[in-house]
Amino acid sequence: MQNAAAVAKSLQEIAGLLRFEGQPKFKVQAYERAAQIVTIVGPELAGLVEQQRLRELQGIGKALEEQIQQLWNSGSSDFLERLRRENPTGAGELIWVSGMTPKRIRVLSEALGISSVDSLLQSCVEHRVSQVPGFGAKTEQRLQQACERWLSEQAAVEPAPMLLAEGLELLESLRRALAGSVQESKIAGALRRGQELATELDLVVMGERTAVLDAVARPRQVLRVDAQHSVAHVAGGAKIRIHTATSADFGSKLFSATGSDAHIAAVAQRARERGVDLAERRFASEAELYEAVGLPWIPPEQREGQGELERAAATGFDDLVELDQIQGLVHCHTSHSDGKNSVLEMALAAEALGMKYITITDHSPSAHYARGVSLDALKAQWDEISRAQEQTRVRILRGTESDILRDGALDYPDAVLEQFELVIASIHARHRLDRAAMTARLVRAMSLPCFKIWGHGLGRILNHRAPIDCDVPQVLDALAKGGGAIELNADPYRLDLPPAWLPAARARKLPFVISVDAHSTRGFGVLRYGITMARRGGVEAREVLNVLPAQDFMAAVRPKRE
Ligand SMILES: [Zn+2]
Ligand SMILES: [Zn+2]
Repeated sequence: MQNAAAVAKSLQEIAGLLRFEGQPKFKVQAYERAAQIVTIVGPELAGLVEQQRLRELQGIGKALEEQIQQLWNSGSSDFLERLRRENPTGAGELIWVSGMTPKRIRVLSEALGISSVDSLLQSCVEHRVSQVPGFGAKTEQRLQQACERWLSEQAAVEPAPMLLAEGLELLESLRRALAGSVQESKIAGALRRGQELATELDLVVMGERTAVLDAVARPRQVLRVDAQHSVAHVAGGAKIRIHTATSADFGSKLFSATGSDAHIAAVAQRARERGVDLAERRFASEAELYEAVGLPWIPPEQREGQGELERAAATGFDDLVELDQIQGLVHCHTSHSDGKNSVLEMALAAEALGMKYITITDHSPSAHYARGVSLDALKAQWDEISRAQEQTRVRILRGTESDILRDGALDYPDAVLEQFELVIASIHARHRLDRAAMTARLVRAMSLPCFKIWGHGLGRILNHRAPIDCDVPQVLDALAKGGGAIELNADPYRLDLPPAWLPAARARKLPFVISVDAHSTRGFGVLRYGITMARRGGVEAREVLNVLPAQDFMAAVRPKRE
């Protein structure tokens, strides 16, 4: 997964290089503005690129659209690469330091090999700049201050924590890159436990420490290895802690690098009670470690020190839902609202994944920003579904993702709602109602006497939008009474309802659907993150509706109940 911050940084570099070349001001500013727009758009960028809708943004024309697409898809662009080739290294960054002109950049590049703001600062500190003809001590001092100012401005923009999906993709690509040079590596830390966000990543690698760190420094993802602290710095500001292990203690190292602290403390306590010294003994595998304390292996998603040892001892965790049990892809958008693919394309892609059914749930009319489906257009969509159904074995369900309006009503008349085979009810607007109004709104929606799925419950967008404020237990009570299920939305930016609330939903015997909220056939790949959230919440396969065969699923989610 790409991130918007990296695209913005490249656009800013293009602006800098154009300015260095003395290109017209409007050109430079267009790229500067594009960098700002991309920063503001943030997580929405993925969807806009995928749906080819970048030009709907103010100030993004054809040329910028192409640049952003290339930067997003490949991490660079032909234009940026050409500008880099034709100009001194680092010019795109140095030009933004106050006092640095193109001429000065060229002179310092040739005289001192200055290629970044960092190296300019270093040269100023060592008084090498004032030795270069044309640069006096005063200029050197001013440049030093300007560098410090620029660097602190950059540092002020703390990199946001990494999303689970981003972090895992990064670590998996690093593992692939290391495969030839180390015996074994495994992801550990907060991401192995399925935490939604992480600032530090962990990798356990088998091998001798110096050799491992040398190997880790080679892949292109890694910018720098801090050997003293065994930390690899990667693009975008994330840090990866490298834990080295031998084949004899790989299990011990993996266990301790995975955490959490509370879980480790609980296991250590249990070990002491049994006279086992965890610090002393070495375990080749985690299974052996848990066995030594009289427990089955505990899935990482459950290692939070919240009573998992007791559940492990009593029933184990074999019943937690697993990815390959899912039989249907729930919550799919098509080109009828803000999706990219047709009904048939979505269905065929689901069939290719071995799925048995798919639910088409485009937006309802109130969601005009997402081109919600009007009553008239619904008829056309249902006809399309019928035609598509003749061309695939995947059962296609007629659903909707209906907006929950300001007052808690749903966005189609009851007579229409009853004709759907599945209703997801979601909030897409007015996220900032106060707690009382928001709770009343949701309680009303969830109390409606039809089976509905509470879509992306708290409306959060990780790193960008806080969850809505409401009394969740009250809403769950209303849903249990009115009839319905909880969605576990697998969109990496959502992961909603958050896992922390799942035990409360389980206690009320509410069923779950693990949904992809896909806006294109490429959107199906996120399913695994929804599974991870379910497992963190302790959800068992028998509680998940879309592990059921098509007929049973359809009966379970049918909106109209006798
Ligand atoms: Zn939605
Ligand atoms: Zn949706």
